[in-house]
Amino acid sequence: MENLKHTVKDLSNGGFVLVLDTGAKIDPQAEAMIQALHSRSTGGIHSHLSVLRDKGAENFMEKFYVGYGHKSIGDCGRATIFVEGVSMLAAKAIQDWRLYSGQEASTRYIDFSEQTFINPLGTPEGEKMLEDMRTFYLKAQKPVQDHLKSLFPREEGQKESVYEKAITARAFDITRGLLPAGASTNVAWSMNLRQFADELMLLRHHPLAEVQEIAEKTEAALFEAYPQSFGHKRYDQTEAYNQACMQDYYYHDHESPEFELVHDGVNRDILKNYRNELEKRPAKTELPPYVADSGILTYDYLLDFGSFRDIQRHRAVVQRMPLLTIDHGFEPWYLESFPPSMLTELKAFLYDHQEQLRHLKASKEIKQYYTAMGYRISCRISGDIRALVYLGELRATRFVHPTLVKRAGALLDSLEALFGEYGLVIHRDDTPNQFDVKRGEHDIVIKEEKQTTEQSV
Ligand SMILES: Cc1cc2nc3c(=O)[nH]c(=O)nc-3n(C[C@H](O)[C@H](O)[C@H](O)COP(=O)(O)OP(=O)(O)OC[C@H]3O[C@@H](n4cnc5c(N)ncnc54)[C@H](O)[C@@H]3O)c2cc1C
Repeated sequence: MENLKHTVKDLSNGGFVLVLDTGAKIDPQAEAMIQALHSRSTGGIHSHLSVLRDKGAENFMEKFYVGYGHKSIGDCGRATIFVEGVSMLAAKAIQDWRLYSGQEASTRYIDFSEQTFINPLGTPEGEKMLEDMRTFYLKAQKPVQDHLKSLFPREEGQKESVYEKAITARAFDITRGLLPAGASTNVAWSMNLRQFADELMLLRHHPLAEVQEIAEKTEAALFEAYPQSFGHKRYDQTEAYNQACMQDYYYHDHESPEFELVHDGVNRDILKNYRNELEKRPAKTELPPYVADSGILTYDYLLDFGSFRDIQRHRAVVQRMPLLTIDHGFEPWYLESFPPSMLTELKAFLYDHQEQLRHLKASKEIKQYYTAMGYRISCRISGDIRALVYLGELRATRFVHPTLVKRAGALLDSLEALFGEYGLVIHRDDTPNQFDVKRGEHDIVIKEEKQTTEQSV
């Protein structure tokens, strides 16, 4: 481990970008090259490995991948980057890519009270707003936990440590609504070389300066780690076009219904051929990919930013990036879940929070950093039946945040109503809103003696 040379670039807010050196003998560039050799030689892998041994991958990648623009060669090598100490907004920007793979710190299992809250304005006024939010978040933890314990007392046979963890996770679910979207998080980002190049072309024009910096530093770090696969020429017209798309149209902020189907592009004549597949699908099984050729559906809905963070991770659907504002109101579930004894204080806190945001001298994009994650945003999702059924069934279970369960349930209701007559069967969790102590087992912990992962989520 000590000999590995990770490439690190520091970010101005204290975070960093790190390109992982796995110490592999065949690194991503070399792997891309030996796959690409298949397209020009029938010698086979043993012959390609000899070429790699004798000539290395550097010249090949420079000439064929970057030079001649054979983009598919970049699909064949994979890099992993760790981006740490960045805002939730930046994490969403990084994950706004349909071939993103990776993981992010969970607000449901990690205490965010000690995380840095990013203050892009750098003003005392901004700092005070963020620290007021931290104070209230901290103050709420114990009363919320006590309230939950009175609602869901530990039952006989339930292990105390698991019960406590489940209560803490539920309390984090409730109090996360008070965290600012500027709270910092850590993101793992794993993709092929071409996807990095393509995504970075847009991220460097992102409306937030923080994301622009992450994009520039990531590109610089990738260039340092894999010099023959990055450093593509930039074309003025392409840059100008990408800049306009990102700066003028990226954020979605419309009047939005609670939940509504706004476009049904599913061709019933095609769908009726898939009755067997729709009817006979067992639970926890995906529909076959080809049913997607029947068309797509689009839904508009409101969801709090906290839960949007989860639904946004579904990559088989297309989602717009909502702008986080206070205009669509604070999600009522958070208010309903607070102990009644704290409700007046919570409402007063939110009133002050809104007033401070209204008077804050900052653009609407920057105001997002100071806005509590419990505020609702206008979301739009488009996808085919396969992707939407998968998403709906995964997210309408008792292990998912209740505000997302509600929207996932509405999605399943809609799909059932639209396509039940074509045979679509939905497999549901019968008690999606039940408090289940098994939540306490869903953390990922490293066992001290054996250093193994106990259970994954
Ligand atoms: C209870 C729970 C807790 C979680 N906790 C965390 C956490 O703490 N941290 C974290 O980082 N993640 C967490 N996740 C996982 C994360 O939210 C998932 O990435 C998210 O659920 C997306 O689901 P998916 O990756 O399974 O599938 P999707 O991205 O929705 O994909 C569905 C299917 O389509 C395929 N597919 C994907 N993209 C495409 C495409 N473009 N075209 C065609 N097919 C495609 C996929 O391979 C998959 O088979 C959690 C998930 C759950 C359910």
